[in-house]
Amino acid sequence: MTLGPSAQQWAAAVAAVRSAGLDDEIQLICHVNPDGDALGSMLGFGLGLRRLGFTRVRATFPGDFVVPTPYQRLPGADLLVPEPDAFADPRLVLVFDVASESRLGALAGRLAAAPASVVLDHHASNTGFGGVRLVDPQAAATSVVADGLLSRLGVPLDPEIAECLYVALATDTGSFKFDMTTVSVHELAARLIATGIRPGEISRQIFDSKPFGAMKLTGEVLGRAVLEPAAAGGRGMVWTYATLADLERYGQPPYVLDTLIDPVRSVAEADVSVVVKQVAAGEWSVSLRSKGAVDVSGVAVSQGGGGHRLAAGFTGYGEPSDVVDTVRRLVDEHLN
Ligand code: 5GP
Ligand code: MN
Repeated sequence: MTLGPSAQQWAAAVAAVRSAGLDDEIQLICHVNPDGDALGSMLGFGLGLRRLGFTRVRATFPGDFVVPTPYQRLPGADLLVPEPDAFADPRLVLVFDVASESRLGALAGRLAAAPASVVLDHHASNTGFGGVRLVDPQAAATSVVADGLLSRLGVPLDPEIAECLYVALATDTGSFKFDMTTVSVHELAARLIATGIRPGEISRQIFDSKPFGAMKLTGEVLGRAVLEPAAAGGRGMVWTYATLADLERYGQPPYVLDTLIDPVRSVAEADVSVVVKQVAAGEWSVSLRSKGAVDVSGVAVSQGGGGHRLAAGFTGYGEPSDVVDTVRRLVDEHLN
């Protein structure tokens, strides 16, 4: 079964952090195309390292250095550097919200070479890479694991750390709506809010603020959605796609499509929802959600991706119809 980190793993993670000198280079890394949990857990932990007196902390992620606008104002955003400016030979590497090494791109080598490394994650599909592994599939967000390590390091929550961890927690629980929204999630949220952060203000900035063009783009992409009632063993599937040309027409960056799955998955007639987002010619980032009939993590893993049982993703190739054909077939193979 899916147990969280053992007492030995927590102790090893604390020891790994304490093994670094205060002036040693510490590199934090999260996954490509970072979301609120990846950035929030990484920057919140980075601020915690600063509080402990570490002076050389950098945070990065692989690929284009695009930080979604709402996250640019997160406390600790000054820790962020583009991939080429990451420490070449860090003493300690900490990795956040990364289910497999492929999500680290070329930075995976930095992790392998470091004298000490700690992986903080909550994906059931985590492949078990890195030195010390703090992987808790029961955790609603990687920030839950980050909070666990910060408290074991004796770092008290302050409003800046709390804002980062709150954004991460709110992102991965769908604003406290998903199944993982447990008593302990609300207890963590309560401790974070008790530092004085403003949940309403934060939610507005992170979730409820979009350029007009992004809203229009969303309208067009939702307008072409297709409902297939017979798919997923009759439980229904709904899908749509967005191309780079769509983004260009509305002058929007790719990350505005990250939340497009939310209105799609709200379709009552479908258990499975799919959004196919173009990354390059013939290459698509595929978001999958299920309401329970299908293990979409299994679907994604079979295509070299990963995620959670009810929320997962992978990279697909060809035309959107090719990708959807593949998903339709695999969904039938992964019915619960
Ligand atoms: P989203 O659809 O929001 O991009 O991703 C849903 C979940 O699937 C997240 O937990 C995310 O980390 C995971 N995921 C999405 N795409 C990939 C992928 O290409 N590879 C892996 N390993 N996980 C992915
Ligand atoms: Mn996450």
